[in-house]
Amino acid sequence: MPFERPEIIRPPSEWKSYFLPLTSGCSNNTCAFCNYYGSKLRVRKAEEVKEEIDALARYLKAGIQMPSMHYLVYAVGRSWDQKRVFLQDGDALVYPFPKLVSILAHLNEKIPAVERIGTYATAQDILRRSPEELKTLRDLKLGIFYMGLESGDDEVLQKINKGVDARQMIEAGRKAKEAGIVLSVTVILGLGGVAGSEKHALETARVLSEIDPDYAGALTLTLVPGTPLYEQAQEGSFHPISPFRSLEELKIIIENAGFSNCFFSSMHASNYFSVRGRLPAERERMLDELARILNRRDPSLLRPDFLRGL
Ligand code: SF4
Repeated sequence: MPFERPEIIRPPSEWKSYFLPLTSGCSNNTCAFCNYYGSKLRVRKAEEVKEEIDALARYLKAGIQMPSMHYLVYAVGRSWDQKRVFLQDGDALVYPFPKLVSILAHLNEKIPAVERIGTYATAQDILRRSPEELKTLRDLKLGIFYMGLESGDDEVLQKINKGVDARQMIEAGRKAKEAGIVLSVTVILGLGGVAGSEKHALETARVLSEIDPDYAGALTLTLVPGTPLYEQAQEGSFHPISPFRSLEELKIIIENAGFSNCFFSSMHASNYFSVRGRLPAERERMLDELARILNRRDPSLLRPDFLRGL
C-alpha cells in the first residue's frame, strides 16, 4: 500500500519548518482525548524519504521540479529558509533507529544549511533509546523533542490511557535533556475534569518541575468527536471544566512550577487566554496578567470558542 502523506500537525514553534513525513499516525494511538486515537501507524520506506530529500535539494539548488513528487515538497520548499525540519507524524522517533540515522545523515549531506531537526516523541520512544543512541541523533542535528506529558497526575494518565506513568515521563524527559536534546513539554488544562482539576494542576506542576524542560506549553482540552473522552462527556461520566477554571489551573501550574529556566507559554490556539514568559524570572508578571482576567470574569476577554483550534 503506498504511503499516504499525513496532514500537517505540528507544534506552533515549527511553523517555518519543512515537514518531512517518516510515519503517519501514532504508535501509541490509545490516548482518550487525541485526534490520533485509533490511527494506524504507517512507516514510510527510508528510500522514499531519501528521494524526497533529493528532490527538495535539487529544487533548492536549481529550481528543478519532479512531476512525480508531491506538490507539498515544492509548496513548502518555496518559502523555506532551510534552517529547520520537522519530522512527521505523531511520533516519528518510533522510526527504526538505523534507518532514522541514515535518513538524518542523508538530510545533513544533501541540505547542510539545516540547523535543527525536530520531532514529536512519546516517553516510550525516548525510553526505548539508549543514551548513546540519543546522542547520535543529536549529533545528526535532531535537536528538539516535543513530548506530551498531558498531566502529572497518575490517575489522569491512567484514565486517558497514556501508557506511561509520571515517573516514566520524568525519566524520559531527563534522558533527552542529558543527551543534549532540547525538550519541549506540553500539558493539557482540563484533562482531570471538574473533580480532578486541583490535583491535575498541582501534580502537573510537580512533574514539570522534576523534568525541568527548556520549554513548556499549556493547551486546553478540546473534546474531539470519535474519541473516548468525547463520548464520556456526552454520557455525563466526564465533566469538562469551565474556561475560567482552565485559567485557574494555569495559575496553579505557574505558581507551583519550580523551573530553573523554562520558557512557558499558553499561546496555543486551544487556550482561552495567552500568557507567556520565562519562569521563574517572569512569574509575577504572568500571574498578574492572569489575575486581571480572573478578577473580572468577563467572558468577552477570552478567546471565543469558534476561534479556538486543536
Ligand atoms: S497524545 Fe501523543 S501519544 Fe497519545 S495518541 Fe496522541 S499523538 Fe499519540
